Amino acid sequence: MSITRRQFIVSSSAIAAASAYDLRAVLTAAQTPAQAPPATAFATIRGTVGYFTGQGGTIGYPLDKQGIVVVDSQFPATAKICLDGLNERSGSRPIDYLINTHHHGDHTAGNATFRPVTKKILAQVNCPRLQLEAAAKAARSAKPGSPPPAEQVGANATFENTWRDKVGGETMALKYYGPAHTGGDAVVTFEKANVVHMGDLVFNRRHPFIDKPAGASIANWIKTLEAVVADHRKDTIYIYGHAGPKFEPTGASADLFYMRDYLTALLEFVRGEMKAGKPRDVIVKITDPLKGFPDHGPLVERVLSAAYEELAG
Ligand SMILES: [Zn+2]
Repeated sequence: MSITRRQFIVSSSAIAAASAYDLRAVLTAAQTPAQAPPATAFATIRGTVGYFTGQGGTIGYPLDKQGIVVVDSQFPATAKICLDGLNERSGSRPIDYLINTHHHGDHTAGNATFRPVTKKILAQVNCPRLQLEAAAKAARSAKPGSPPPAEQVGANATFENTWRDKVGGETMALKYYGPAHTGGDAVVTFEKANVVHMGDLVFNRRHPFIDKPAGASIANWIKTLEAVVADHRKDTIYIYGHAGPKFEPTGASADLFYMRDYLTALLEFVRGEMKAGKPRDVIVKITDPLKGFPDHGPLVERVLSAAYEELAG
């Protein structure tokens, strides 16, 4: 099935529905969208690299006098707040690259806000297709009489396995490690600052969203986290797409290993329940916390069903 540009334009209510879906998966009730404007904050990480939190996936950026890269774009409202803040810091320089770590709405819905001032929107080659498919799916399930369409903007430059470029005083390196959180995740390294944006490959102490329809693989996600640590240094600082309420959106390799261990335990747990002969509809309703991972709280259906699907083949 080919998806036309026209189908990429979906109604704003459909986007809202898709966004709400993503957010249900990744946010607590305290962070539920709409009504009051969300709390936003900028923070410095190291060297020229900082991050911005608002609504949706953490935005990361290196910014100096010669170049700016923005990683992920959240939703239009907080994308505007982020862009205004970056303009203040840069004297309104154009953005050299906007990178999407993957296609989910809480990482790409702000692309339209950044596009007029951005030279290139870059993502892994599978990402724009997955974004089109998710938007088309949301449009199909939109209620009749929904508000008029708003435009979705996808990447206009893609890479398959790696991409490297110098931007200002920083060198960025992107790498695709195979399917994990989705079928098109990019890991973004800022080499000079020694900071890595993980996108949603790390949900720091929070049950993740595992997007099986978009090609997610828990088994390869586990391998990816090990490979990312092996590719970087002991003192590398990592940025996470999402974190639990009491946890930080940045940290060290220990958090990546914790995420690896959580995913391993999740697969092992579901494998055990399947071996014990329990049917799918019983397994996915289990709400005990995953043993050894109390910070995540009770198990949730979305991770259990993803693990079941992966193990059942
Ligand atoms: Zn995501």
